[in-house]
Amino acid sequence: MFIQKRHLSALSVLALATLAATTLSACSSTESTATTGKTLSVVTAFYPLQFASESIGGTKVEVTNLTPPGAEPHDIELTPQQVAQIKEADLVVYIGGFQAAVDDAVKQEAKDTGLDVGQGLTTLDPPPGEVAEAKANKEEAPIADPHIWLDPSLMAKISDRIGARFTQIDAANSETFKTNQASLSKQLTELNSEWATGTKTCRSRDLVVSHEAFGYLGKAFDFTQVGISGLAPDAEPSAAKIAEVTDFVRKNDVTTIYFETLVDPKVAKTVATETGAKTVVLDPLEGLEEGSTQDYLSVMRTNLTALQEGQGCK
Ligand SMILES: [Zn+2]
Repeated sequence: MFIQKRHLSALSVLALATLAATTLSACSSTESTATTGKTLSVVTAFYPLQFASESIGGTKVEVTNLTPPGAEPHDIELTPQQVAQIKEADLVVYIGGFQAAVDDAVKQEAKDTGLDVGQGLTTLDPPPGEVAEAKANKEEAPIADPHIWLDPSLMAKISDRIGARFTQIDAANSETFKTNQASLSKQLTELNSEWATGTKTCRSRDLVVSHEAFGYLGKAFDFTQVGISGLAPDAEPSAAKIAEVTDFVRKNDVTTIYFETLVDPKVAKTVATETGAKTVVLDPLEGLEEGSTQDYLSVMRTNLTALQEGQGCK
């Protein structure tokens, strides 16, 4: 069951147009820059894409990430310097429909060099309630749930795409990219099987979360996500919504409510206090905390441990 509140305006018809424009122009962006001995300059939109790009690119690429550590990426605004970086980069890696400012900048400044790694993947539909709400507010309806990186097997597909594009635009270093990509792919496969094994038998399959980032992860490992805030973490839930989730928690004997690192846990804690449930961090990996020494793989393993405990998995 999806309990939904707010739609994500970034997932818009405009974004869809951007995706289409990016695909059409993707084939023309294959000229090599590294034949001149230059390091490939790559701009990534937010942390998981930075992680994949750095893992695959190694010393052969220079990665600039648009969302700084500790910042919440959904509603990122870009500085003029960042827009210039997008314009000048050899490649811009992003997920269309996730960050409206990035979609717009790619559309305007990086038509031939944008790589939307979400494109072509089987995305989850936004829940019908969200589409109806957007319509009622005369806003563009969301087209998909953007949080694909939280399913390790989809993260592997994202990584494959990044590796393939690196090889395409910098053939001279293709062996390095292929080796690094194979290594990352192996690590993601291991992570995926740890999740599959570790969540096979659990007391509860209802995942009550502060924002609905865990749709793909839930689909992959058989959990039903119940969100308090909706797709965007800073959406204020209504009193009715909080009451609805509180009721759900009581009726379904949910013992743990998950909140996240980059957003105020106030709402999750309200529901927890009302119901006597515990609150535990489940990190949507939209960014690392400032000063963090973790990476995608280690945070996903911490997430697995938190979820196993919270859901009573054996
Ligand atoms: Zn999110």
